[in-house]
Amino acid sequence: MDTGLLKGRERQIHEKGDKPFEIECDKGSLSGAVSQRACVFCGSRVVLYPIADALHLVHGPIGCASYTWDIRGALSSGPQLHRLSFSTDLREKDVIFGGEIKLEQALNELIELHSPKAAFVYSTCIVGIIGDDLEAVAKRASEKYGIPVIPVQSEGFKGNKRAGYNAACRAMGRLVGTSDTSAISPVSVNILGDFNLAGEIWIIREYLERMGVEVVANITGDGRVGDLMRAHGAAVNLVQCSGSTMDLARMMDDKYGTPTLRVSYFGVEDMAQALYDVADFFKDQDPGIVERAAALVREELELLMPKLERYRRDLNGKRAALYVGGAFKAFSLVKAFRLLGMKVVMAGSQTGTREDYEELHAVTDEGTIIVDDTNPLELVQFIKEKKVDVLVGGVKERPIAYKLGVGFCDHNHERKEALEGFVGMANFAEEIHRTVMSPVWRFVPRNEESSGE
Ligand code: SF4
Repeated sequence: MDTGLLKGRERQIHEKGDKPFEIECDKGSLSGAVSQRACVFCGSRVVLYPIADALHLVHGPIGCASYTWDIRGALSSGPQLHRLSFSTDLREKDVIFGGEIKLEQALNELIELHSPKAAFVYSTCIVGIIGDDLEAVAKRASEKYGIPVIPVQSEGFKGNKRAGYNAACRAMGRLVGTSDTSAISPVSVNILGDFNLAGEIWIIREYLERMGVEVVANITGDGRVGDLMRAHGAAVNLVQCSGSTMDLARMMDDKYGTPTLRVSYFGVEDMAQALYDVADFFKDQDPGIVERAAALVREELELLMPKLERYRRDLNGKRAALYVGGAFKAFSLVKAFRLLGMKVVMAGSQTGTREDYEELHAVTDEGTIIVDDTNPLELVQFIKEKKVDVLVGGVKERPIAYKLGVGFCDHNHERKEALEGFVGMANFAEEIHRTVMSPVWRFVPRNEESSGE
């Protein structure tokens, strides 16, 4: 690995090789490093945003709301209220005299206009500084309209994006346990950490329904307030994405004894394993479920494998780099690329924990760079050094790849293609093939010094 790194960043990067694994993570970004991370408020917004029948009111200057407006391609099968971005639009006068009156007026107006099932009020940087009492305003609105009005303590400066996930989980935790659960089947789950991008949660729900499993609450893709309120009635929480909803799963375990199964719906191996784990969990209540899960996986693989074979021929030996939000997704991607005959040469995340990176280190090949909270300059360096053919990332990584003449796959908020499930693996292979083999790269200089600037 080249050593042209910013001083202070070296300990968050590890190249798998002879040295024992050591990485620093889960800490504030280095000043001046221009992190690819978003702020605390953004972290909470991405988690709560897909609750489609709730009002989402951003208490702060207009920029915070516009920055996160319709931030995920999270689809709803019903209400679309989540797609509107409301803001109290705090100005200088509000900063001097306080924004509580404006917040109260905004809540009154929006609740009367949209009749939401609940309201989330997000605190931004300036609200944390001027000290508006969100709890008091929310309590008054809740009593007046008879719906939960919940402050989200997500001031942008008070940590990294991971602290935003925690703020979102604490807000959701106030809804859970407030409704009747008597009609829920003993063979039932909540789906946590899936945001229904491009309708992915519907794929997973359909698999579970084929196995005879009731889904109580989607948390939070295609989410509903009423489902969250009865989520404590489910037998188990299926948690995907290591960062975003794990804190809620822990709270539910502590308070209601709801156990957690860690799952991933990306790639063939992990998707099948998720279904087998669910079947294993319920095999005492429903002895036929194990056979139904095996039959489902068999049927799906019979359809999928011939499609993958076509792409494998062209992609064999190509090199991929990953930079994702939560590290959990990276484990599945490493395996998915292996199935396509490709090699992952760089893998990193914005919010991985030490355990995540240890697991990532275990599944990657020798020579792979593992990186926490990277920045554009490092990405450029790694892509050139490792002669990467495709970068997997989100909206902020896309231009970096294209400027370097490298293929790109959006695996983040804005994707329009479902990548989860067996059908998602076929879409993933097709998208990777399309971008890696695109004839356009013949006209773009790859890996030349000037191309990343
Ligand atoms: S850092 Fe602060 S001001 Fe900027 S978007 Fe986040 S909450 Fe808003």
